Amino acid sequence: MLEVEGAEEKGIKVVEVGGEERLCTRNLVKGVQVYGEQLVSMDDGVEYRVWDPFRSKLAAAIIKGLRNLPIERSSRILYLGASTGTTVSHISDIAYRGVVYAVESAPRVARELIERVARHRRNVIPIVEDARRYQHYPAMAGKVDVIYCDIAQQDQTEIALANARAYLKDGGHLMLIVKTRSIDVTKEPRSIVEEEVAKLRSNGFSIEKVIYLEPFDKDHAMVIARKA
Ligand code: SAM
Repeated sequence: MLEVEGAEEKGIKVVEVGGEERLCTRNLVKGVQVYGEQLVSMDDGVEYRVWDPFRSKLAAAIIKGLRNLPIERSSRILYLGASTGTTVSHISDIAYRGVVYAVESAPRVARELIERVARHRRNVIPIVEDARRYQHYPAMAGKVDVIYCDIAQQDQTEIALANARAYLKDGGHLMLIVKTRSIDVTKEPRSIVEEEVAKLRSNGFSIEKVIYLEPFDKDHAMVIARKA
């Protein structure tokens, strides 16, 4: 279930919970839940949070065999489509010495992101803005190591690329969730993923990994690409 290299340093672990093996991250804010997930205290006093692959596509990708997760303890991450912060919170656990700029365009959703996540976590900076208006982000200081994009828009790859041109450092990674049904319902999902991958290649990215997320998310894939 867990093939991530350097998992221990990243605080990612498989823990037995109620007789079942569950993926977890080390909780940055002891005692605080984000989305009703179970908290598990270990003998050494460290607390873990169960990471639900049906709620977070990054957890699904890890369970589906992701080995090289480009998020490190001190990574700076620009997260597009933060929603109420489920995946953002686990990334905040992993990059506990770094920063997560969490962009969400829907004000009501962003309010929950702030209440549930940003209020408790010093490394999460909410940005209530449309990711198409990337020039208008307040609070962005310098470039980032990783852009994670999960906005389920037809032009999501173009939006991710525009953000990458503005904010991703050379050699940085783009983690793109391709929701094929948002792009074209009539086409075969794998051919849509191929088309999005080709766009990344023609914009100077090399493709490190494509992971299909079934059975956790139908017709979704995660593409991990590196900027030259
Ligand atoms: N990544 C989240 C998680 O794993 O917890 C789920 C993201 S949900 C599929 C997509 C989110 O992207 C929604 O909350 C939506 O409001 C937001 N969104 C859609 N278009 C956007 C845009 N252009 N800019 C910023 N956020 C956007």
